[in-house]
Amino acid sequence: MTVISVPFTIMTEAEPELIERGRKLFAGPCDFVKGVVAMDGLPAADRPEVCFAGRSNVGKSSLINALTGRKALARASNTPGRTQEINYFALGNTGYLVDLPGYGYAQAPLAKVEKWQELLRRYLAGRVTLARAFVLIDARHGVKTVDHEIMTLLDRSAVSFQAVITKADKPRAGTFDQSLTAVKADLAKHAAAYPEIVVTSSEKGDGLDMLRAAIARLLVE
Ligand code: GDP
Repeated sequence: MTVISVPFTIMTEAEPELIERGRKLFAGPCDFVKGVVAMDGLPAADRPEVCFAGRSNVGKSSLINALTGRKALARASNTPGRTQEINYFALGNTGYLVDLPGYGYAQAPLAKVEKWQELLRRYLAGRVTLARAFVLIDARHGVKTVDHEIMTLLDRSAVSFQAVITKADKPRAGTFDQSLTAVKADLAKHAAAYPEIVVTSSEKGDGLDMLRAAIARLLVE
């Protein structure tokens, strides 16, 4: 059997027109729509959407804040009680940005974890308008077991996912390349992994234009 290895690359450039589309998309209206706790609570599947998944503390709220430039948005998802919900934000009428519950939080009661895992599984497998999942990976920690579990779920659901490295400002100089190599090797184990990785820092603003462009490419025709 021939094994074809996919060379993962870092998204460092995009066409200026696409970057501008991304900038405009996120400069426009972006509103919290609702927190969803069950499949029948999902908004009508009438426009494309992208979702953000990641371990608790990976920097998901900070990234959504930084992308949209609106602090109140991430506050909406981080409000106690909302952290276990699928939170929907509308980018004007163009598409939805979906904030999935952070996973891998050891303190959460098992029954609760099982409930949201089931919701997550059904959402990922059944949402026809889901264009792509963005799976956030902490630059210092790399791909952990729970990340592999989500990625395997995405493989099985045939949902394309793109890795987004967060907190790229954190690793000490010299260690970053090494961790990127490890992330690439881990991604290569997943059929649904998109071959381009976005490297971001919400703190420094790095990579945000690339991520906005990647989302605009998926949501704007
Ligand atoms: P969430 O649980 O995934 O929503 O994570 P948060 O957005 O709340 O971030 C978790 C912690 O990481 C907070 O202390 C943030 O200040 C910090 N953080 C998030 N993004 C960055 C980043 O780009 N750089 C640095 N240095 N810290 C970050």
